[in-house]
Amino acid sequence: MAEDSFIVRCDRCGTKNRIPKSRTRDKAVCGKCRAPLRFTAAYPRYAIAVDQSSFDSEVIRFPGPVLVLFWATWCGHCRTLLPLVDQLASEYSGTVKFVKVDLDKNQNLASQYQVQSVPTMIEFKNGKVFNRLLGAVPKDQIVQHLRAML
Ligand SMILES: [Zn+2]
Repeated sequence: MAEDSFIVRCDRCGTKNRIPKSRTRDKAVCGKCRAPLRFTAAYPRYAIAVDQSSFDSEVIRFPGPVLVLFWATWCGHCRTLLPLVDQLASEYSGTVKFVKVDLDKNQNLASQYQVQSVPTMIEFKNGKVFNRLLGAVPKDQIVQHLRAML
């Protein structure tokens, strides 16, 4: 039972809500105060853009594994990784969430997570850094890392 559900903390009253994994595609509300629970309910079928203001709710408090791609517009390897990450988001929809962070617009996040170069992928599990993948990592290697996280 426990592994089939997530704990999501309510922003308004602080109550911890247990959300069945099968219901994470729906909009969930707090069982106590009925406030909407803030996390991306679905695992989107593409990498969603996240910035400093949404990083906490989309990544740190997201109740499942997340792969974060730090990228930049001037980075050639990023241009090959972005569509690959979108493709993986579609293949792993419901299992792993994929987000992308524009390095130039989010320097605070980059320094907080010691991102020295792009592309850098960081896997988060339960809000903590699980692993880092540096550079233009080929798809089969990313898949191996994703499997290790599940
Ligand atoms: Zn509440």
